Amino acid sequence: MTDTQKIGRNGDRTAREVDVVVAGAGFGGLYALYRLRGLGLEVQVYEAGSDIGGTWYWNRYPGARCDVESLAYSYAFSRELEEDWDWSERYASQPEILEYAHHVAERFDLRRDIQLETRVVSAVYDEARGRWTVRTDRGEEVSAQFCVMATGCLSARNIPDFPGLDRYSGRCFHTGDWPEEGVELEGRRVGIIGSGSTAIQAIPILAEQAGELFVFQRTPNFSMPARNTPMDPDYQKRAKASYPAFREPFVSGMFGLDFHPNDRLGASASPEERNEVFEERWRAGGLGVVGAFADLFVDEEVNEAAAEFIRGKIRETVHDPEVAELLCPDTPVGCKRPCADTNYFETYNRPNVTLVDIRNAPVEEITETGLRTGGRHYELDCIVFATGFAAMTGALLRIDIRGRDGVKLAEKWAEGPKTYLGLGVEGFPNLFTITGPGSPSVLANMIPGIEQHVNWIADCMVYMRERGLRRIEATPEAEAAWVEHVNQIADRTIYPTCNSWYVGANIPGKPRVFMPYLGFPRYVAKCEQVVANGYEGFRLES
Ligand code: FAD
Ligand code: NAP
Repeated sequence: MTDTQKIGRNGDRTAREVDVVVAGAGFGGLYALYRLRGLGLEVQVYEAGSDIGGTWYWNRYPGARCDVESLAYSYAFSRELEEDWDWSERYASQPEILEYAHHVAERFDLRRDIQLETRVVSAVYDEARGRWTVRTDRGEEVSAQFCVMATGCLSARNIPDFPGLDRYSGRCFHTGDWPEEGVELEGRRVGIIGSGSTAIQAIPILAEQAGELFVFQRTPNFSMPARNTPMDPDYQKRAKASYPAFREPFVSGMFGLDFHPNDRLGASASPEERNEVFEERWRAGGLGVVGAFADLFVDEEVNEAAAEFIRGKIRETVHDPEVAELLCPDTPVGCKRPCADTNYFETYNRPNVTLVDIRNAPVEEITETGLRTGGRHYELDCIVFATGFAAMTGALLRIDIRGRDGVKLAEKWAEGPKTYLGLGVEGFPNLFTITGPGSPSVLANMIPGIEQHVNWIADCMVYMRERGLRRIEATPEAEAAWVEHVNQIADRTIYPTCNSWYVGANIPGKPRVFMPYLGFPRYVAKCEQVVANGYEGFRLES
């Protein structure tokens, strides 16, 4: 008998019973534990990693940092927490964000209900009992009325199935599982595969550390200088003095991000006026260029003007014109997640950095000593996979989740994820997903998104308790209508037009479906309306 089992009333061995199992102890799981425990519920959190922090525990690669201002990428639920934590930089680094997660866990005594190094491997709904049986990779079994999946949108690592990978004799790492002790790269020949946000942060630092760096790029990306600075103490003080007002622009724009969205239409501005706005935002740093005009995501010409502006910056920065052209993206701006960098394009002027185009000549094989592409072999002491994640659905589908009638979530989502509000799934009663597909999630500042989801779920549990309700499940009609709505909104924009992880295109065989919901404020209003109408679109039963 494991310590999570106990003797039942009749002397039989039964799984330990809790009110809620939460899978994951990133910012989602931590806040879920805080809120649900606050309702007097017994909550058990399981975390696969050997510490809390989620993204910020796993992604310890050199250069990892947030590109949402630190003061906004933080919890808003506790005034005291806001007061007693100071950020040291405009954009916080991974170690500082992880320290913040630790601070939150200590401050609210969260660790006692979190079991680390424990992966949830299955969750099976027992219809007769109206409970979930959750099993872990340690062989434990626990029974819960509710399951809250806080497993993360960007936590299931993607390592492409390159031929020969298993015979490589050098060291290789995925950026999302970087060794805690760091990696000694001095004098080494290092290869990095990928040119997404992660690679763009890591490359400038790897180039400083390594003897030689080879960047294997399939698709170039738009990146803007972050212009990170030490935190101005006066700025921090002013922000904290009126924190809700400071946070407001980070949640009220379409993206809930600090794009500083402009109400003005690019279509009605002259080319010179557009460039002035782009330039001003480029100088200010961060992702502001993307918010330069209200129609940038819907008007191809305005988008192309922004694209050409950034390409101009790349050509100005990178000395070798051929390398500059290879770095110039040909996708619309923002269609893939835009990146913020520190000296990314400048790094290609270093004599120890080589850009290798693998778009036209994909990786043929990994050999014992390196990588072969385009008919050439690159000898490498170390390969870094900055190849991203099975985003949005990967972590959920790696768990054997079975709902009513034994239906597997993987079967239900065979043609792409279907949810109602990214919170619930028809056929899977009492299972909630935090920032699930169909919610703004990755298209918003994720901490406010997480808080909004957890608050909605907690309020729902209170509502059910007060009315003696035991079961909540999305209706098929509401779910179908929501999926259609998510797609309709996305189809009006440039988002579905390129091969991004938003549409699952980074994973061979993954159905091409735009997964996040576009429009954080509109989404919040919809969630509130659902509640005001007695959880419209959900079936509630006693
Ligand atoms: P996560 O932090 O991913 O935590 C999920 C946890 O669940 C993980 O620890 C994982 O180990 C655990 N888990 C998964 N499956 C299981 C299982 N079966 N059993 C037990 N445990 C499990 N967002 C922003 O808003 N701004 C940013 O600038 C930003 N930068 C980012 C930079 C990087 C490198 C990455 C990868 C993501 C970034 N994000 C950013 C998104 C980031 O993921 C979220 O902001 C936020 O940290 C997500 O928190 P979470 O708790 O939902 O998920
Ligand atoms: P990503 O954006 O998915 O980038 C992965 C890279 O690997 C892409 O360049 C991709 O090329 C390449 N790749 C994947 N499979 C490949 C293959 N088989 N062959 C060759 N190349 C391959 O992943 P990420 O950079 O880790 O970022 C994921 C997300 O995490 C971001 O979009 C963002 O939301 C978040 N993040 C944020 C920050 C930040 O600054 N705040 C930093 C890091 C991450 P293709 O483009 O051609 O697919």
